[in-house]
Amino acid sequence: MNDQENINRMQELVNIINKLNYEYYTLDNPTVEDSEYDRLMRELMKLEELYPDKADPNFPTKRVGGKVNESFAKITHELPMLSLANVFTESDIIAFDNRIRKENIVPKYVCELKIDGLSVSLKYENGELKYAATRGNGVIGEDITDNVKTIKTIPLKLKEKIDIEVRGEIYISKKTLMLLNQKRLKEGLEPFKNARNLAAGSIRQLDSSIAAERNLDAFIYHLPNPLDYGINTHYEALEYMKNLGFVTNPNNRLVDGIDGILNYIAEKTEKRESLGYDIDGVVIKLNSIKDQMRMGSTVKYPKWATAYKFPPEEVVTKLKDIIFTVGRTGQVTPNAILEPVSVMGSTISKATLHNEDYVKEKDIRVGDYVVIIKAGDVIPRVESVKYNRRDGSEKPFEMTDTCPICGSNLVKKDSNYYCVNPKCDAKHIESLIHFSSREAMDIGGFGERIVEDMYNLGFVKRIPDFYHLDKYKNELMLLEGYGEKSIQNLLKEIEESKNNSLEKLLFALGIRHVGFKTATIIARKFVTIDNIIKASFEDLNSVPDIGSIIAKSVREYFDNQENLDLINELKELGLNMTYLGKVIENPRIKDKSFVITGTLNIKRDELKDMIITNGGKVIESVSRKTDYLVLGENPGSKYDKAKLLDIPILNEQEILDMLKN
Ligand code: NAD
Repeated sequence: MNDQENINRMQELVNIINKLNYEYYTLDNPTVEDSEYDRLMRELMKLEELYPDKADPNFPTKRVGGKVNESFAKITHELPMLSLANVFTESDIIAFDNRIRKENIVPKYVCELKIDGLSVSLKYENGELKYAATRGNGVIGEDITDNVKTIKTIPLKLKEKIDIEVRGEIYISKKTLMLLNQKRLKEGLEPFKNARNLAAGSIRQLDSSIAAERNLDAFIYHLPNPLDYGINTHYEALEYMKNLGFVTNPNNRLVDGIDGILNYIAEKTEKRESLGYDIDGVVIKLNSIKDQMRMGSTVKYPKWATAYKFPPEEVVTKLKDIIFTVGRTGQVTPNAILEPVSVMGSTISKATLHNEDYVKEKDIRVGDYVVIIKAGDVIPRVESVKYNRRDGSEKPFEMTDTCPICGSNLVKKDSNYYCVNPKCDAKHIESLIHFSSREAMDIGGFGERIVEDMYNLGFVKRIPDFYHLDKYKNELMLLEGYGEKSIQNLLKEIEESKNNSLEKLLFALGIRHVGFKTATIIARKFVTIDNIIKASFEDLNSVPDIGSIIAKSVREYFDNQENLDLINELKELGLNMTYLGKVIENPRIKDKSFVITGTLNIKRDELKDMIITNGGKVIESVSRKTDYLVLGENPGSKYDKAKLLDIPILNEQEILDMLKN
């Protein structure tokens, strides 16, 4: 890749990681494996090393990942709650040790298990629990005191009447996860997928009786101000906290130098499966507090500690069946149904087989023992077959030629098969995902998976069903990953989406050839949906930038009675059908010409639309007539020209502020 491509990739990675952080920390519902997330982070860090002047303090590599959920009371941490730097290989650990020795430190380390849960800060006054907070964004956390009080291993009263803050990890044991899942299966509910997200989801519930049912547990591993208690080493701090009544992990070990660390890792890698709770690595901490202070911290992590992460795991299990599923594009893919097996803390019973060629090439058969990898994939994949375990009863694979959802004949394109029936359920799911997406109605709580779940559960089958979802509030609360809070937020977002300006609805309807930009042009011109419905082909075609293909497609859409019925139904549900753009009200933008250069956080097309919607013009090249240059990262020659001509320059925040007024 050349420099420009690398710089673009950096921005792309920032966007992807920010989205994953949101799913992981805010929704407690990650869509990729941790190892994939870690790989993306490493890629970004490498690029930042190559282009340090393009790195930004707001990049996810520089910030603690979480966000504070506004529905909880906020607690400001007295000292920031940091993350940990990650290492993955022996040479990374040696480099960590070298960095410490370079500071003339002869280190002793404490090795600890890296518990896969979520961190908590506990504040005691006069020996009594005063509050408990999540890490949040590292500076401000969420008040989870009521839920934490349900955790039996967290003392409400200490053995001494002192003021103290301690930190640790809340988790759910493997046994509790198994018992909860057995109960859910009996009740016909989907099992929870892994302990970490269940722990995080449970502790961030409004109703503490839910947290109580989940039987949460905690290990305490950090004393933020040890010197205040006359403690000079981390190991002593662990002992001190234990004596106060906290549960510390029995595997904590004081070691000398690198060999001690490597032995600990080898031992715990082996022991990992037999532990009663999930761990995702080993944490290595400098023992002397004075040395810790000498090493210091970045804004994201301490330089005196690091987390070694275990490599992705592979396991062998039996392939019980091959079923076919239809994706959003209508593509039909084979999937393996597996004997349930635990991989990296998750129970897996399904894995992708990609397509017919993949299965045939590897000769994967029903009845085979197969190797499952759960590394970079959202869905784990069948990697290979243990041919030596065959007994002759395995059934060779046959690709289906009909859609498993609607039964219509499949059409083959390249190596893939597609269902092209427009009435197929899979298509409906696609249109619902589109409707709720950000550029469309922007119902934030809905990701692809959630829409699919809602569809499959029968809660949202058609677009208007989004607006009846409150009927299923109680059922929703029983689903994995949906707390009372998240459901309240979801319903609030659905309600708020009713007020969207017309162009968002027009785009959300999924009219062929009508992208967001076209929807904005049409909405601005015709102002209400009724005017658009009444507009003839000629009326539409005469609008600048609306060609005959778009005009024909819009007419076809509104000539269809089913679509008109849908519009009426949405009207009755209270959706706004009027363009709310602020052409006249924004004199700072109206009739002004803007040139945009460089990479921005906001999509360029989105910014362009906002400027046009507010009555401004966006032009391609800088001239004396240009009113403003909007400057992003890594600008082109337009920036030099604007400087030469003395054109006022706006950064991203400044133009967004102008657009707000
Ligand atoms: P981290 O989990 O890598 O390490 C820091 C955390 O380790 C601490 O905050 C603490 O909660 C925990 N911890 C457990 N045992 C500990 C011990 N003995 N001592 C100290 N800390 C201990 O960092 P993070 O910032 O919390 O999260 C980043 C990680 O989360 C990623 O590396 C990835 O694994 C995962 N993640 C995944 C996704 C995804 O989409 N899959 C998204 C975001 C984050």
